[in-house]
Amino acid sequence: MTADTPTEVLLHEISGLFARRGREMYAGEPITQTEHALQAALLAEENGADAALVTAAFLHDVGHLLHDLDEDCAEEGIDDKHEALGAEWLSRHFGADVVEPVRLHVAAKRYLCAVDEQYFAQLSDASRLSLSLQGGPFTTAQTRKFEEHPSFVAAIKLRRWDEQARIPQLPTPPLEHYLDCARTVLTRRAESPQST
Ligand code: FE
Repeated sequence: MTADTPTEVLLHEISGLFARRGREMYAGEPITQTEHALQAALLAEENGADAALVTAAFLHDVGHLLHDLDEDCAEEGIDDKHEALGAEWLSRHFGADVVEPVRLHVAAKRYLCAVDEQYFAQLSDASRLSLSLQGGPFTTAQTRKFEEHPSFVAAIKLRRWDEQARIPQLPTPPLEHYLDCARTVLTRRAESPQST
């Protein structure tokens, strides 16, 4: 594959985003954006996720790297809507199997807070603060509707990995490993564009 294919251009762009913004802290947590992304992707891999869901885990917070809001904007009462921004950006190249879990990872938190007391109890302070800005736990009607979404299961899995991926100093594979995983997904899609 040559360096100027759309896939390689995108991977270069992703790697550039992490190079420029990845050392910023993940809001309110003792880890960087890059560490958080790598830990989420590693958890996906360890739990047997396919390449698309590992890629979604790796890139679920790419929206944070795309906007210019302060990393602590939640403390100022601002919802950065990073899930929508990230999903829109990813949808230029990836299918629903990557884009939808990313788009839904905040909705999945609102869902889990409504149905799982233990999940709610283990939320970090930062996650609890952003939850209130994101609309709080779902109502019963909202939980039923969310369960019908085709990407419901993937979104819930991603959300649980997202919540766990906040461990300082945890060893992970390097960024290149997950860029390779994204390359696999993109190459497959280029070869059969009708798939998700
Ligand atoms: Fe996250």
